[in-house]
Amino acid sequence: MIKSFACPDAGLSCGARVTGASDREVLEKAVGHPREKHAPRTRTATG
Ligand SMILES: [Zn+2]
Repeated sequence: MIKSFACPDAGLSCGARVTGASDREVLEKAVGHPREKHAPRTRTATG
């Protein structure tokens, strides 16, 4: 079964989606993506 994870599903306004053949594969991608794409754009309280 193809699993998928999308940033909007997690409340992120990113639009990225990752898919994999297993929960583990999706999880690995879903964990690596924010580190690369979201880390530099850390949200601050003052915006
Ligand atoms: Zn994202």
